[in-house]
Amino acid sequence: MRLVDKVVIVTGGTRGIGRAIVEKLLAEGARVAFTYRGSAELAHSLLQQAPSRLLAFQADVTDSSRTDIVIGETLKTWGKIDGLVNNAGITQDNLLLRMSEAQWDAVIATNLKGPFLYTKAVLKSMLSQRRGAIVNITSIVGLQGNAGQANYAASKAGLIAFTRSVAKEVGSRNIRVNAIAPGFIRTDMTAELPAQEWKKTIALGRLGDPEEVATLCAFLLSDEASYITGQVFIVDGGMI
Ligand code: NDP
Repeated sequence: MRLVDKVVIVTGGTRGIGRAIVEKLLAEGARVAFTYRGSAELAHSLLQQAPSRLLAFQADVTDSSRTDIVIGETLKTWGKIDGLVNNAGITQDNLLLRMSEAQWDAVIATNLKGPFLYTKAVLKSMLSQRRGAIVNITSIVGLQGNAGQANYAASKAGLIAFTRSVAKEVGSRNIRVNAIAPGFIRTDMTAELPAQEWKKTIALGRLGDPEEVATLCAFLLSDEASYITGQVFIVDGGMI
């Protein structure tokens, strides 16, 4: 129970890694406001797990008017924000020569502009509290690149640079900013990929589970990580 009394916002909490993070934070005692884009039924089923310690918002991370509502309602309900997890992300894969401008824009908007909007919005209350922890979910693709994912790789590399820069801006106010770079995690996002082929490249010989990312995320949000900021943690079973 490392997060008792902490209030955390998680973007994209209905499925995959984000859902595992919400459930882990709940298990550690936190109150969690999570967002989603379209999965209202999944949001409802998650809410049932702990109605007094959860808030759900249908809010596309690219829509700044919704960001203000998420932050405002969370502050109105619980009075503070201690943590933020920028998890919501999408892929729209294509070889560069076939990649449309729309595919480029959609991935950059969700994966990079979304974290910008949420980070900026929570910083106001974290700065006045002189305390806070932010975790950005990037990807090993942002570290090493991947054919067919130039838009996604650019967004995730950008998120790493964003993490390191903001960590330097706000460290003096006791706000920590870190990133997690997962490898191949079993979620809807990776359901279509040829897992058997990829497994050969993973030292542990298997895909990761969302819970294995969530565990690290809970640690980084907790006071146990009080001297860790500006870092990128790889959770990939020994893939790179
Ligand atoms: P999923 O596709 O399984 O889930 C994505 C979640 O994000 C859903 O809850 C979805 O909501 C939400 N979401 C997507 N777009 C938006 C948006 N515009 N606004 C608000 N919410 C949104 O993805 P994963 O769990 O696999 O991925 C989570 C994060 O981890 C992403 O940032 C991804 O890039 C990263 N990652 C994943 C890896 C993997 O192997 N799975 C590897 C490395 C990084 P809804 O249900 O409403 O659609």
